[in-house]
Amino acid sequence: MRAAVFDSRSNKPGNWVSIEDLPRPQPQSGEVLLKVMACGVCRTDLHIVEGDLPPIRPRIVPGHQIVGEVVAGAIPGLPLGTRAGVSWMGGVDGDCWFCSHDMENLCDHPVFTGYSVNGGYAEYASVRADFAIPLPAGLDDSHVAPLLCAGIITFAPSGKVVVSALSALRKGGVVAINAIHLDQMPAFDYDKLLWGERQIRSVANMTRQDARDFLALAKDLNFRPRVVPFSLEDSNKALEAVKHETEDGSAVIVL
Ligand SMILES: [Zn+2]
Ligand SMILES: [Zn+2]
Repeated sequence: MRAAVFDSRSNKPGNWVSIEDLPRPQPQSGEVLLKVMACGVCRTDLHIVEGDLPPIRPRIVPGHQIVGEVVAGAIPGLPLGTRAGVSWMGGVDGDCWFCSHDMENLCDHPVFTGYSVNGGYAEYASVRADFAIPLPAGLDDSHVAPLLCAGIITFAPSGKVVVSALSALRKGGVVAINAIHLDQMPAFDYDKLLWGERQIRSVANMTRQDARDFLALAKDLNFRPRVVPFSLEDSNKALEAVKHETEDGSAVIVL
């Protein structure tokens, strides 16, 4: 299969991934094989290929907003042909303190799609069946892909933006930061910006239920994000577009 591979040992800026011919993954027990139709390109992917996030594996296929069709490893909830989505959260251990308290989004041993396991910049992806979410009809592949990110709200990963968001907050409001990587936050004035029970907090990940709820809502509201399609061969261009924010819409690799 064709796949875009990031190799942390031979990485060149702007030429982060190379298109390679890889063996089609074999679904292991508990996994389904998806034939990928679309995969959103997220700022987190850029943090991975630029080394802001340290590599977990020397070589990885990025991509964690996967829309695909089940072609092997089908289970009752995911029969062959089901269209399913996979997000950044590709699995949890199920038995840490957080998992056993309904906070799997904070799991101590998570699997990250496109970071700790291969993701969706590829023709096929083998993913944990219990983290593949059947997608509602009515939202087409490329438009549903950007909705699958853990960070449904895009937030520029700059400390300065956090401070300006704080200054726009009413009393008791919360600035939620979902950037996975944030540069330094400048010093700010406590009396003006934080007094009045304003809060700054981070948002790490969503739970599977959050994803299901959100997708159902997106369907009901007929929510269609603006997307800019790229071919798999143009994965570097897609990453470049995210880096420089040159496109008016979410970059999506369409296969
Ligand atoms: Zn856990
Ligand atoms: Zn993301």
